[in-house]
Amino acid sequence: NLIYFNGEYVNDKIAIDPNDRGYQFGDGIYEVVRVYNGMLFTAREHFERLVRSAAEIQIKLELTVDDYIEICQHLITENQVTDGLIYVQVTRGNALRNHIFPESFKPVTLIYSYDSARPVEGMDKGVKVITLEDIRWLRCDIKSLNLLGNVLAKQQAHVGQAVEAIQVRDGIVTEGASSNVFIIKNGTIYTHPANHLILNGITRIVIKRCAEELNIPFVEKTFTPEELYDADEVIISSTSLEVTPVTQIDDQTVEIGPVTRQLQQAFKEKIYPAS
Ligand code: PLP
Repeated sequence: NLIYFNGEYVNDKIAIDPNDRGYQFGDGIYEVVRVYNGMLFTAREHFERLVRSAAEIQIKLELTVDDYIEICQHLITENQVTDGLIYVQVTRGNALRNHIFPESFKPVTLIYSYDSARPVEGMDKGVKVITLEDIRWLRCDIKSLNLLGNVLAKQQAHVGQAVEAIQVRDGIVTEGASSNVFIIKNGTIYTHPANHLILNGITRIVIKRCAEELNIPFVEKTFTPEELYDADEVIISSTSLEVTPVTQIDDQTVEIGPVTRQLQQAFKEKIYPAS
């Protein structure tokens, strides 16, 4: 498999510098972009978010949105990816270990692709989630490499035989460990506002567009765990999960409903515009 690393295309193996700040501090940012039918999906939105994340932590990117897209397209072609994901990470670079930023630094970029099928089973049958406390930092809007809070939450979900951990901060549902959360009540979709407490998911933005096109009210307003349990329908979304219905929250079951199915259909039409 061809990989893009530090300005070059290389085969399979790369050498990480022991002083890479991504490795030592999680000092970097990332994106995961979908490939459907050999084509990038919402790549521009993803790379615009990467540019924003970089600016928020004062990393000066050496590549533009168009550069990233071109590199991804090259990898898709060379690696013959039909349905897959592309992982992009940029760290602050290599410097002798010190929390303070180095005087001058050259970001280290890593981009690779891998095959991944659409999550059809979960989308069809629904998944189980658990709720737990959101213990993450207060800049969840930055897609940072520091994922320990998310990793611990996801592991707890996995141990509880659930697909996702729905995090709760100060009595408010924020988001999943690697997804956004939506409830549907009386025909209206509710999701946490895009502020510093959640990542503004690209899938979330696509779902918002779909809802608008379908004339389904879409309200960016917080909700409580009680409202989550009491919802008519519950959805989680991400680049890899798309629009996945939730059928169990902790010990309580939820039905998959008509709004979820409409959003899934509208989302699919965005993936395959011709069909
Ligand atoms: N929230 C968190 C914490 C995530 O890690 C992710 C994706 O990995 C999302 C939300 C969903 O974002 P997107 O739809 O851009 O994949």
